[in-house]
Amino acid sequence: MSDTLIVAELADGKIKKTTHSAITFARQAGQPFSILVIGAGAKAAAAELTGFGAKAVLVADDASLASYVAERFAPTVVEVARSGGFGVVVATASSFGKDLMPRVAAALDAGYAGDISAVSADGGKLSYKRPMFAGNAYGHCTISTATQIVSVRQSEFTAAEPSGGASDVKDVAVAPAGPGADRVEFVKFDQVKSARPALGEAKVIVAGGRALKERFNEVLEPLADALGAGVGASRAACDAGYAPSDYQVGQTGKIVAPALYFAIGISGAIQHLAGMKGSKVIVAVNKDGDAPIFQVADYGLVADLFGVVPELTSAVIAAKG
Ligand SMILES: Cc1cc2nc3c(=O)[nH]c(=O)nc-3n(C[C@H](O)[C@H](O)[C@H](O)COP(=O)(O)OP(=O)(O)OC[C@H]3O[C@@H](n4cnc5c(N)ncnc54)[C@H](O)[C@@H]3O)c2cc1C
Repeated sequence: MSDTLIVAELADGKIKKTTHSAITFARQAGQPFSILVIGAGAKAAAAELTGFGAKAVLVADDASLASYVAERFAPTVVEVARSGGFGVVVATASSFGKDLMPRVAAALDAGYAGDISAVSADGGKLSYKRPMFAGNAYGHCTISTATQIVSVRQSEFTAAEPSGGASDVKDVAVAPAGPGADRVEFVKFDQVKSARPALGEAKVIVAGGRALKERFNEVLEPLADALGAGVGASRAACDAGYAPSDYQVGQTGKIVAPALYFAIGISGAIQHLAGMKGSKVIVAVNKDGDAPIFQVADYGLVADLFGVVPELTSAVIAAKG
């Protein structure tokens, strides 16, 4: 098996934490690895990745890569993968990785294992574990093409820590934009700025469902503040406009696995469970004792949330002194 190429993700000229999950994958795959930092400002950001044990940190820095557009980024990833003879090309299955990697796979005529939750290396052959049917079943697959393209689930690959050393930093050529790039215009990126931890990185998440109605923030925010938690929501709560859409947890939202997840007034539909059932401890509050959320909850409270959540919040504040 030949080396692994990690595609790093940049935001505002800094390496995104998602990249560290792809590094963990590469370490588990057991082959030497290099990291490609691609985007405008990549050269300055590359220094953040030189202490993780990579053979090289490759830099593709160009003003044309100031904003992410798949048609502009993919050709450089493809060229670096091809010319470097990499056996595996990996990114984290963030919006960036999920968008970019299938395109890279197609251009390289390579097999793709998307959104994997584990990798094992038996006798030099990599086997990938993938959630299927909204996480109700797992498939184990191997890829038979010379190059293997992978995206990894951030919640299942703990962020890598630096291992010391100092990788070489090398510039690589930026490939011309692919076909269709001239028909794509980057308009804007509406970034939600919040003082709360990002859902993918939060150790505690307080999530609410449709039951909260217009009182979503009024009831949940004090508890989240007391716990230093991120705030999540069911799709029904987002669709109804009680919570912003980037709060959505689930099959078509964010996949999270915090140490502690509060599901408050959330029924526990399989599409919601698909995004949070990997949480270490799940606490559910629901007035319906038969709600499916109780089947995955470690602690359950059958109660009216409007009464117990403020009580719980006061108890947390009192316990903190
Ligand atoms: C293709 C597809 C993809 C989907 N993707 C997602 C996804 O990513 N994420 C997601 O969440 N959903 C997703 N859904 C929707 C999902 O099927 C459910 O409809 C949704 O999760 C329900 O949200 P909810 O639990 O907030 O609402 P409801 O199902 O309406 O449940 C509300 C719950 O609150 C409880 N309740 C009501 N009042 C109170 C009270 N005062 N105190 C305590 N409890 C109370 C009720 O007993 C009930 O259990 C998807 C659906 C489809 C078809």
